[in-house]
Amino acid sequence: MQTSDNRRKMPKLKCPHCGGRCADVADAKLKNQSVLTKTESEPADFMIECPRCHKLFGLYIKLLHSA
Ligand SMILES: [Zn+2]
Repeated sequence: MQTSDNRRKMPKLKCPHCGGRCADVADAKLKNQSVLTKTESEPADFMIECPRCHKLFGLYIKLLHSA
């Protein structure tokens, strides 16, 4: 798995605030390793702005931190 590039593929997930679809996880393994966070106080690898409710939520990829 390549982690040296900051421009990682953006997984697709549902917004934890409104349930709207914001992004896709192409890799099922990655999806299983993903944790959605609602607040900035939690660690996150991606900050995603929902295109529907325009709230920010975090995406934490456990896989990136286990190596
Ligand atoms: Zn939303």
